[in-house]
Amino acid sequence: MENNEDIKPSNFIKNIIRKDLAEGKNDGRVHTRFPPEPNGYLHIGHAKSICLNFGVAEEFGGRCNLRFDDTNPLKESVEYVNSIKEDVKWLGFDWGEKEFYASDYFEKFYECAVQLVKDGNAYVDHQSPDEIKENRGTLQEPGKNSPFRDRTPQENEKLLEQMKDGKFADGECVLRAKIDMSSPNINMRDPIIYRISHTKHHRTDEKWCIYPMYDFAHGLEDSIEGVTHSICTLEFEDHRPLYDWFLEKLGVFHPQQIEFARLNLTYTVMSKRKLLTLVQEGYVSGWDDPRMPTIAGLRRRGYTPESIRNFSEMIGVSKANSKVDFAQLEYCIREDLNKKAQRVMVVTDPLKVVITNYPEDKEEMLDAENNPENEADGTRQMPFSRVVYIEKDDFMENPPKKYFRLSPGNEMRLKHAYYIKCEDVIKDENGEIVELHCTYDPKSRGGWTDDGRRVKGTAHWVSVKHAIKAEVRMYEHLFTIDNPDRRKKGEVFTDNVDPESLKVVTAYAEPFLSEVQPMTHYQFLRIGYFTSDKDSKPGKPVFNKTVGLKDTWAKKQASSG
Ligand code: ATP
Ligand code: MG
Repeated sequence: MENNEDIKPSNFIKNIIRKDLAEGKNDGRVHTRFPPEPNGYLHIGHAKSICLNFGVAEEFGGRCNLRFDDTNPLKESVEYVNSIKEDVKWLGFDWGEKEFYASDYFEKFYECAVQLVKDGNAYVDHQSPDEIKENRGTLQEPGKNSPFRDRTPQENEKLLEQMKDGKFADGECVLRAKIDMSSPNINMRDPIIYRISHTKHHRTDEKWCIYPMYDFAHGLEDSIEGVTHSICTLEFEDHRPLYDWFLEKLGVFHPQQIEFARLNLTYTVMSKRKLLTLVQEGYVSGWDDPRMPTIAGLRRRGYTPESIRNFSEMIGVSKANSKVDFAQLEYCIREDLNKKAQRVMVVTDPLKVVITNYPEDKEEMLDAENNPENEADGTRQMPFSRVVYIEKDDFMENPPKKYFRLSPGNEMRLKHAYYIKCEDVIKDENGEIVELHCTYDPKSRGGWTDDGRRVKGTAHWVSVKHAIKAEVRMYEHLFTIDNPDRRKKGEVFTDNVDPESLKVVTAYAEPFLSEVQPMTHYQFLRIGYFTSDKDSKPGKPVFNKTVGLKDTWAKKQASSG
C-alpha cells in the first residue's frame, strides 16, 4: 500500500470523460464543480465528492468550481459557508480566484423563469401545498392537472411578477413547470420552480421573497458556469430528465449529469439533518466533536488530509450503493500516522513500580528513538528514576502460561531503559495492589544485554518524578450498532448513541509533552495514535485518541480474500 497517492485507478466517470475528450466534446474542456448547500458542516461523504470532482479536474487539466448552492435561506448561514471553505482548503484543494454562489444568479434564474412562462412552459399555481401534494398522484396513479394549469402566458407573467414583488404570502402560490401530470416519473409531474418565502438571505438580504427549487436552479448553475460534467449522487438519477428538460427548453449550454453511489459508512449517520440533531440535542459537543463524521470532527480527531484523500481513492467510485467498513477509514489514518507520528510513552492506567536497588536520588537520561519507521526523526532523551509507572495490565499476579509481561519472580524489559524483575507485590488493606517492588539489572541499560538472556515482554513506562499529567479523551464509535438507522418501532436514531463513546482519562506522560502545539500527532507506544486537541493549555495538554494500533480491516481483507 505504499505510494497510494501516486496510483490513480480509473473509474466509470473518468472513462466517460476520456470518451468525451476523444470525441472533441466541449472544445476539449473538463469542468466540474463541488456544489454544497451551506446548511451544515461537510462530512466524509462530501469528502468523497470533493476528491472526485477536484481530482478529475486536476487529472484532465480542467477546473473545478466551489459553488454554494444557497437557494434555501431558512437553513443556511455564513458559519456554514466559512466552515466549508476551510474544510475544502484543508483537504488540499484549490478552487481558484473566487468561489461561486447560486445566489449570484438569482436575477438570471428569474429571467429564465419568465422565458419558460412566455413560452407556455410554466404556470403560476394557486393550489394550496396540500392540494398540490394530493394531486401529484402516486407511483401507481397518475396526478391530476391543476385547475390553474391553463392560465395564459400573459396572465402567468403578471402573476410571477407579483410573486417576485411580494404581493403574495408564503405558500399562497408557486410557479410550476408545465410538463406532464401523468408521467411515470413523479419528478416530471409539473415540478415546482419557485416558491414564496419571505425570508432574509445571508447574501441577498431581503431582495428576494421567491426562491428557486433545486432541480430548476442546479442545472442552470452548471450551465452558467460552463460545467461540462455535473457529478452527483444516485438519488438524482430520476431527476436527470428534469435537469435535461429545463436546459433544453431554455436552449442554454447543456452540461452532462452523471450519477455515482454515495458513500455510506458503518457506525455512522451521514445526513446533515441527523448530524444537526446530534449537535442541537447535545449528543456531541459540536460539529467538530471528534466522534462526528464531519471533516472538522475527523480533523480534530487527528485524521490527516492525506489519509482522507487516500481513503477516497481506495473506496473507488461506482454505481452500486454499498456500505464501507469504518475500519477501512481507520486503516488509512493508521498507515499515514505510522510514517509521521513521533513515538512517545504515556501510561493511561498507572501502576507504581519501585526499583529497590536503584539509588534514591539518582536520575539519568536515556535515549529513545522518535520513529523506528523513519530514522531521520532522530532520538530524544527520557528521564529515568527509582519510581516509574507502568500500565496496570502489564502486570499479572497469577499469570497464565506464555504470559511474557511482568509477574512475581519474572523479568520484563522497560523500553529503552532496563530489565526489571518483580520481587514483591504490595497491597492495601482491601487486597488491591498498590505498588510493585522490583530490582533492575544495571547491565541492561538501553533495554538489552549481550549475556544471551531472553526477556520477551517489553513495556512502556514513565518516571513518576518527571511525568506530567495529560487529559486523554478515549473515543469509541458514536453509535452502538453498525447501522444506526436500524431501530425498533417508536425509537429514533439517537437511541442508538453510545453514552460511553467518550471516556476521559488522566494519563502520565513524558515531560516534554507538557507544552504541545495543537494538532500534533503522536503514537503512544503500544496504545494507539493520539492527536493534541485545541483545548490544550500550557502545562495542561489534552489528547484525542485518533485510532488504536490494532488493524481490523486489513485482517478482515486477508481472511476473506
Ligand atoms: P446530506 O444528504 O448529507 O444532507 P446533501 O447531498 O444534501 O447531503 P449537499 O450539500 O447538497 O449535501 O452536497 C454537496 C455534494 O456532495 C453533492 O454533489 C452531493 O451529491 C455530494 N454528497 C453528499 N453526500 C454524499 C455522500 N455520502 N457521498 C458522496 N457524495 C455526497
Ligand atoms: Mg442536498
